Amino acid sequence: MSCKQTTEDATNYLEGPNTFGRRIAHYFHLLMCYRCRRFYRQIQLVIRLSPTILPTQAPSDAEVEALLARLKADN
Ligand SMILES: [Zn+2]
Repeated sequence: MSCKQTTEDATNYLEGPNTFGRRIAHYFHLLMCYRCRRFYRQIQLVIRLSPTILPTQAPSDAEVEALLARLKADN
């Protein structure tokens, strides 16, 4: 597996379903390749942080109304 294939497939490897053979190929490439290891660490960090940065679901109607009420009260 090349560096290009490894990095292109990074999110699949970390998040999605993967065949056992593919995981092994990734694993061994990462063992040998410092550049891809560093790249994967960065991707993993982004994946780990993203739920705290991005809301996982839209606010409910009640939450929106409560927010609007607070904004009106402030003005
Ligand atoms: Zn590599």
